[in-house]
Amino acid sequence: MDRGLLIVISGASGTGKGTVCKRLLAEIPNLFYSISATTRPARVGETNGVEYFFVTVDEFKNWIAEGKFLEYAEVYGNFYGTPAHKIEERLKRGEDVLLEIDIQGALNVMQKRPEGVYIFLLPPTIEELKKRIINRGTESAETFSRRIKAATNEIETGRKYQYAVVNDTVDAAVEKIKAIIAAERCKVIRNENLFESLTK
Ligand code: 5GP
Repeated sequence: MDRGLLIVISGASGTGKGTVCKRLLAEIPNLFYSISATTRPARVGETNGVEYFFVTVDEFKNWIAEGKFLEYAEVYGNFYGTPAHKIEERLKRGEDVLLEIDIQGALNVMQKRPEGVYIFLLPPTIEELKKRIINRGTESAETFSRRIKAATNEIETGRKYQYAVVNDTVDAAVEKIKAIIAAERCKVIRNENLFESLTK
């Protein structure tokens, strides 16, 4: 069995990656979500071990010292990290793994796992991004312009990914990502076992 795909999805804040990832997980069989560890408190409705492993800063630092993370980063003042162990197990079994992580984390994974599939989600227009950030709520004018500036910088970093997917509608974005995954699965380099079995 060939290894599964390591699929990494990031996007500027307000691009709707959470919604897109939930749909992908619901629609693609054999795709597993990598549950990150975080030091941020659980939000209402979140359960330990489902959305995240909620840990203390000390526990998080122990995990770092024990080399348990594939990557970790500080995002908005909290630590987030991708536990390495389960990912490797699944990829070895030929299962695909989805990481929904921030850009710094994704750039680190790119260094370690260049064979991964790196997808950057984009808003259709800058106006739409502004609208989505406003609709999210409670921003003061100053926070709002800071967030827009941050989002523009994040979008700039998207050039380093392999795929750019515009999230105009969730349906369309999900279809495009499914097409990317289907094409990646057909790459010759990922089908060594098939060639072997047909040429023996
Ligand atoms: P939230 O706290 O809203 O769930 O997530 C905040 C940000 O942290 C999002 O951009 C999310 O993609 C990112 N994030 C979640 N898990 C990880 C992780 O394991 N590593 C990194 N680098 N970022 C993460």
